[in-house]
Amino acid sequence: MNAPLPATLLKQHLIDPEICIRCNTCEETCPIGAITHDGNNYVVNPDICNGCMACVPPCPTGSIDNWRVIPRARAYGVDAQFGWDALPPQEPVEDLLAAAAAADAEAAPASASAPAVNSPAAAAAAAGPGAAVATAGEAADDAADTAKPAQVAGAVVPPWSAAHPYVNLYTHKEPVTATVVGNYRVTDGDAESDVRHIVLDFGEAPFPVLEGQSIGILPPGVDARGRPHHARQYSIASPRDGERPGYNNLSLTVKRVVAGQDGNTHAGVCSNYLCDLAKHDTVRVIGPFGNTFLMPGRPGANLLMICTGTGSAPMRAMTERCRRRMGGDENGKLMLFFGARTRRELPYFGPLMKLPRDFIDINLALSREPGRPRRYVQDLIVERAEDVLALLNDEKTCVYVCGLKGMETGVLEALRHAVVQAGQDWTILHQALCRQGRLHFETY
Ligand code: NAP
Repeated sequence: MNAPLPATLLKQHLIDPEICIRCNTCEETCPIGAITHDGNNYVVNPDICNGCMACVPPCPTGSIDNWRVIPRARAYGVDAQFGWDALPPQEPVEDLLAAAAAADAEAAPASASAPAVNSPAAAAAAAGPGAAVATAGEAADDAADTAKPAQVAGAVVPPWSAAHPYVNLYTHKEPVTATVVGNYRVTDGDAESDVRHIVLDFGEAPFPVLEGQSIGILPPGVDARGRPHHARQYSIASPRDGERPGYNNLSLTVKRVVAGQDGNTHAGVCSNYLCDLAKHDTVRVIGPFGNTFLMPGRPGANLLMICTGTGSAPMRAMTERCRRRMGGDENGKLMLFFGARTRRELPYFGPLMKLPRDFIDINLALSREPGRPRRYVQDLIVERAEDVLALLNDEKTCVYVCGLKGMETGVLEALRHAVVQAGQDWTILHQALCRQGRLHFETY
């Protein structure tokens, strides 16, 4: 059991800037807007955070799960956290507790009969072994009475039958070096989008991954403040046994971000670095990351995959895993909704269209195909509502959504429509999908 800390002390929720990959998941997940960021760091505002823990499970790196006991009057403010390169050390909690107790005693000498939990010894025990850094569990206990349910769109747990992933094997401080063994364009040569399929080999370094996981790339050089660039996150596009089966390699799907594109005034630091890599170049990699967006391992599991653009990376990984075991009895149904501007801009269009129709049900939503009305993935989900509903109602189905942030609302609405038009209750089904780890989002 965890005794509460004295009121003058706070278990402050912090994000480790050395591990954080700035993926924005925590900021999106926080139900009360306590997490914010600048160009340097993601931070937790101590004036808003209630320690509800909604942000902790979705964080792919675990950088979110950091806590420091500190006098409330000295809580680390947002501006201070923006300037950090590393977390501050934990001050000895026994000292903080003793100081708090002394201050209490001074303020109210008659409080000698105060409950034991307010004594330094009891509270030190509550603060954890050796009175070190407060744990997530403790913070959760603190917040249990006040926490609001998180309004998350998807699950924060993996499908129960997913294989157990390895995460954080390599960090900013100790990255692994991978060698580029391939860099191919997967959009048409004359298409506007330069999307690359990049294959990285890890040689003798262990780098176990699962479909749906991601890695961080550390681009060389420094940012405008003269600090090393932070890592950029990319989904793995190959299955667990490698881009080339049996090899210790993996692939990424990377779109070159050019200045002015999609409202971006800057060319992407990491995307241009990656897209320009040549065979035999080396890259610094951290990760792997991600412990929820994982494919089910139970035989006969169905995959409903919804993606836009380079959000196709994890779908390719999952589809390829299934393709390699075609002919066995492990695969269930595969249904894909894939959005791109045109056929020529759709990554992996050629290989995708060669897959057998009875293996995967492919639905392409093309938004800028000349002479055709604009179609988004959610439009096609509505059109295929009956088949989508049949999958949603099957407990063996897991749903994956990856790509543009903007698609999230439309996709949820389309799924809701498929359920409601059949007279079913979307809220109940949505909650079940989340609870059972069957609905996953990875959008940026
Ligand atoms: P894109 O080419 O800009 O867009 C793909 C398609 O989505 C286009 O047809 C686009 O239509 C459509 N679209 C735009 N807004 C939409 C909405 N609200 N709902 C549904 N469809 C919509 O895509 P991209 O540049 O490849 O971007 C993909 C996204 O995936 C990026 O945000 C990326 O960060 C993210 N992502 C990438 C990876 C990776 O590993 N590389 C992994 C996960 C996620 P119009 O533009 O014609 O409107």
